[in-house]
Amino acid sequence: AKAQFAAKRPKTHAMHKRAAHVMPGGNTRTVLFTAPFPLRVETASGSTITDIDGHSYLDLLGEYSAGIYGHSHPRILEAARAALDKGLNYGAHHEGEVKLAEVVTQRFNMDLVRFTNSGTEANMMALAAARCFTGRSKIMPMAGGYHGGTLYFSHGASPVNAPFDCVMGEYNDIETTRKLIADNADQLAAVILEPMLGGGGGISASPAFLAMLRAETQTRGIVLIFDEVMTSRLHPGGLSAKVGIEPDLKTLGKYVGGGMSFGAFGGRADIMALFDPTSPTALPHAGTFNNNTLTMNVGHVAMTEIYTPAACAELNARGDRLREKLNDLFMRYQVKMKAMGQGSMIVIHPTSGEISTPHDIEDTDKRLRQLLFLDLLEQGIYIAERGFMALSLMVTDADCDRVVRAVEDYVNRRRELLV
Ligand code: PMP
Repeated sequence: AKAQFAAKRPKTHAMHKRAAHVMPGGNTRTVLFTAPFPLRVETASGSTITDIDGHSYLDLLGEYSAGIYGHSHPRILEAARAALDKGLNYGAHHEGEVKLAEVVTQRFNMDLVRFTNSGTEANMMALAAARCFTGRSKIMPMAGGYHGGTLYFSHGASPVNAPFDCVMGEYNDIETTRKLIADNADQLAAVILEPMLGGGGGISASPAFLAMLRAETQTRGIVLIFDEVMTSRLHPGGLSAKVGIEPDLKTLGKYVGGGMSFGAFGGRADIMALFDPTSPTALPHAGTFNNNTLTMNVGHVAMTEIYTPAACAELNARGDRLREKLNDLFMRYQVKMKAMGQGSMIVIHPTSGEISTPHDIEDTDKRLRQLLFLDLLEQGIYIAERGFMALSLMVTDADCDRVVRAVEDYVNRRRELLV
């Protein structure tokens, strides 16, 4: 499959070699590398991307969930042009940031919010705020969680670049994690987790696990942070609103900025007040592009006119239908495959067993994931190699049916590997 992929993409191959002269492995964004070399896109429009060798694909990756509006949404383009016409970035405050902050705080139930340029930064700042607020130093992420490119937390001796002293929690393991919190209570500033693991495989936190975390952190004065960088798209008020459990702080990213670089963190007024610059002990949080005019203005239009609560509900219902059809297919063919996730985010795993913690997918066959990725590319459908898909508003029910047919074709062709 790899040889076939390479043979059909001579320009992409040449460009990859050129890129490797100036970027390590030809790459400036690790998650985009796929063997033998990754796609290289020339243009994108609607739900279609076209590579430099002239092949077109249905874009089901959806920029890892940031690309909710599809490519070149007319209202987004109009908003971007209007913002550019008023001058790009002032080195001063403007109304755009107030308007976006009003929408974001209201929609995601935050007292106060601050903007950043990425989800990574939002998490860095939320964790810094928790440490400052509690006067404690350690934080508890969950094994298998993801919070950004400079925040790698892992088991083992020396996480390569974890900037904080960590105690790793166990996702969906109530008793183990409760005990870890109790044992480290005096030193823990924050517990941070995604209410559904995005990059970690579309595994949802059980309501009981979240309720335990809420109760334990509350009694022990630990700041509970939900990383909703991905999951905020699953409900108009984010996944915390859907499950009915409110953390102390939330972080956002991806689509909220209308497809421009974006991140935000916010929540309880007493914690966020740490950043009030009129306070003599204010925590500094600078960032040249925090209030950049493009993100602020386009984000406001995107959240108020395009990704409305009704559009959100419709998109997630479409994703639920697709996931159901895929799982029906896997059942019918009795193959070791399973579609996880919620709403408009779907992750296909090469296993049919129960998946409730990250450990349940640790040993799945990476080659089967690669094969699905390459076989779907052959059929003109682009997903992440790890099986992740995020629907954009441009993806139709007919597109979803096409995806089901393509996956059925994969199942038929690769059946002996999948039973
Ligand atoms: N948190 C989660 C849950 C994410 O999925 C991501 C990005 N995939 C991030 C944080 C980091 O966001 P960014 O890439 O914008 O820094």
